[in-house]
Amino acid sequence: MGSEPFRIEGETGPFEVVVGLEVHAQIVSRSKLFSGAATAFGAEPNTQVSLVDAALPGMLPVLNGECVRQAVRTGLALGCRINRVSRFDRKNYFYPDLPAGYQISQYKEPIVGEGVVEVELDDGTIRRVGIERIHLEQDAGKSIHDLHPSFSLVDLNRAGVALMEIVSRPDLRSPAEAGAYVATLRQILRAIGACDGNMQEGSLRADINVSVRRPGTPLGTRCEIKNVNSIRFIQQAVACEAARQVAVIEAGGAVQQETRLFDPERGETRPLRSKEDAHDYRYFPDPDLLPLELSEAFIEECRASLPELPAARRRRYQEELGLSPYLARVLTADVAESRWFEALLAATATRLGQPPCAVAERAANWMTGDLFAALKRLDRDIETSPVTPEQGAELLALAADGTLSGPLQKQVFEIMLETGENPGVIAATRGLRQVSDAGAIEAAVARVLAAEADKVAEYRAGKEKLFGFFVGQVMKATGGKANPQLVNAALRRALAAETR
Ligand code: MN
Repeated sequence: MGSEPFRIEGETGPFEVVVGLEVHAQIVSRSKLFSGAATAFGAEPNTQVSLVDAALPGMLPVLNGECVRQAVRTGLALGCRINRVSRFDRKNYFYPDLPAGYQISQYKEPIVGEGVVEVELDDGTIRRVGIERIHLEQDAGKSIHDLHPSFSLVDLNRAGVALMEIVSRPDLRSPAEAGAYVATLRQILRAIGACDGNMQEGSLRADINVSVRRPGTPLGTRCEIKNVNSIRFIQQAVACEAARQVAVIEAGGAVQQETRLFDPERGETRPLRSKEDAHDYRYFPDPDLLPLELSEAFIEECRASLPELPAARRRRYQEELGLSPYLARVLTADVAESRWFEALLAATATRLGQPPCAVAERAANWMTGDLFAALKRLDRDIETSPVTPEQGAELLALAADGTLSGPLQKQVFEIMLETGENPGVIAATRGLRQVSDAGAIEAAVARVLAAEADKVAEYRAGKEKLFGFFVGQVMKATGGKANPQLVNAALRRALAAETR
């Protein structure tokens, strides 16, 4: 494995951190898990609530087949066993935003069983993380406490929306591993289209179980940190909760099992409630829902519908396209970016009449360099890029055939970002083509050398680093458009002639 194990150095010796995660992923589906109400994010409050979601008496839940399909696809993509029979249970607890007084979930017999996810860390080492289960359940609504001076309000749009809860084993050993695990899940979920992975909107959020122990000793008492919704916060929450537990133990105390909240502003966790055990929820089978039975044919259909997964794509980029592990990792971190890259690669290969592997590195370097920097500056993502893959390919082709030098390529790209015009049009109409006319370049060289006779004499006397100065002067004289290779060659010829 190579990398050093992560340890917290306490006053009294080292501690190991143990992390397990329960990730709630909202399933991409137009309607809710047990009702036909819509699920669009950001709708007016309480406009997407059916009688089932409002839990009016006599309403019956009807299971949404698309949600089942996405849960099975997720289970297969995460290398998990699919349970041919699963059951829905009621998990009883009171929340003002849960009208039924219980959540329909799956307890003893979830739809997806055990599996293993391979997580690649930054240094390239692979960490195998066990998945215990994935179950289907409903989301709750949302209480709003800050819109009225004396009342709390409730928005039930989210009530009944389908979630998958992906439960890992306590196999993670550092804040970085916890972050990498969630990032990997997010990549896979987005790649297969089961969850949009939008953490700001709460489509993907993690409950984090953290405990600490002396290396080699049994598991310590854990605390659960609820609803953390960014990868950076997950890492911070693990780090500060582990440090808190170490301090408690070193002061002679014992960690109490409880549910805590992470406050990113203050960089600390605080107690929310003492931890319930499963029996506190009075789980019992939901009498309104039959057991869910899946046929082998349905499971195979789900398997056949899976696209190439990020890990396989990463391998292919290295093996077939010859990209470095770093570029392969960057370009497979997000499925939308992978698709953009592949469109760019196909268009570039076509324009240059070369196989994809011959142009992959050039396309990858430009995309992860100039394009990503521009998107970051413009605060956009690849899906709202002002430049299309076809335009990117045209730009790369103009650079490859010598029409654009490196600096001109950057200049044309900036204009593309502003205007959306094609690079060929920009180069032609704004006179930004590289000058490769040997006669014109030789004339410019001759003019520069004539004007800089003193420097030429110094160069001839052995001050060879003046060569760069001459190059600069010729580039300036040609408005930055001269082909640098031709300028270099012409200067060498001219200066050699002078010294002879
Ligand atoms: Mn849950």
